[in-house]
Amino acid sequence: MFGGLREKLRAARDRLGSGILATAGMPAGAKAEKVPGALSPGGAAKEQPPSPSSPAATEPAPTAGPRFVDKVRVLITEREQKDVADALSELEMTLLESDVALPATDAIIASVEKNLVGKHRKIGESVDALVLNALKAALLDVLGAGFDLREYIRKHERPVKILFTGVNGTGKTTTVAKIGDYLRKEGFTVVIGAGDTYRAGAIEQISVHAERLGIKVIQHKEGADPSAVLFDAVQFAQSHKIDVVLADTAGRFHNKANLMSQLEKIKRVMKPDLVVYVDEAVAGNDAVTRAAEFDRTVGADAVVLTKADMDSRGGAAISIAHTIGKPLMFLGTGQAYGDIVPFEPAQVVDELLEGGS
Ligand code: GDP
Repeated sequence: MFGGLREKLRAARDRLGSGILATAGMPAGAKAEKVPGALSPGGAAKEQPPSPSSPAATEPAPTAGPRFVDKVRVLITEREQKDVADALSELEMTLLESDVALPATDAIIASVEKNLVGKHRKIGESVDALVLNALKAALLDVLGAGFDLREYIRKHERPVKILFTGVNGTGKTTTVAKIGDYLRKEGFTVVIGAGDTYRAGAIEQISVHAERLGIKVIQHKEGADPSAVLFDAVQFAQSHKIDVVLADTAGRFHNKANLMSQLEKIKRVMKPDLVVYVDEAVAGNDAVTRAAEFDRTVGADAVVLTKADMDSRGGAAISIAHTIGKPLMFLGTGQAYGDIVPFEPAQVVDELLEGGS
């Protein structure tokens, strides 16, 4: 998952580190040691006058070039934007090429720069750790907090009603089944509402998934009013004390006004607690644009990106939460029911920056 982006970030990390070290005239991997009195964490260097008894006060400065710690001091105190400008431009290109949306790219670059140059000085860590931490902080900022669905359900009045929608073919129906399976394994009871009554075969498709998983499906005939199906699903959940209603719906809303108004009707009738927009990670920027449009017109509470296993660029996953201001809840990682993972920003960042091949 996102292997291409991981490789590119690794190269960007090396490049940022060598940009900084080149200015200090030091080999890559050098460790910035703490110089007593000379440096303070997070603040400007504090030069202390040498004590009269110290050798520095009486002996001339060495002429054979700056000592290691002096070079480190240069590194720490004089690092400027120019030291990392080229590497930052390369990082910017890398992110854009990986389909990270422009606002998210800008935010990442600004954050990395803020953490590497100017007043924000750090000591006691290697340049590589400095760069790594700057990249981590930047990515975490952009990825947002994620969304723990289990926690949401635990805290919420039951049944929790979740409406799923998205473009056909992206994996919406499979995602409903996967999340049903995930929630049951987490100890919740689940019913699925077969609200995609427009597409030929959609009801059968969700029913087959549900049957395999042993999950109850509420369904009407093809062409039926999806609001009525989902109303029944909610009624069923209420009368059987089911924890969660997963509502599948048709996905051609974004360019079809009638489906858009159907979605509005569904919302009025079943009053979902969460509206989840499903799209595919492989669509990159298109997925982000569609999610933003959906959020503007209908309103989304969270996003699921499918087919992350087929996406080496990672751009949509990196930028969608930042762009639309709604959390990424799950990543689909394959075709099996178990191939869905809650999106945990810290874990994703670790995998991107420190993960294996
Ligand atoms: P829908 O039309 O949006 O409901 O899409 P479907 O649920 O029918 O899925 C379309 C295709 O995408 C199917 O072949 C799924 O097996 C596949 N699919 C769904 N999620 C994933 C995923 O996370 N990874 C991969 N590789 N394929 C997926």
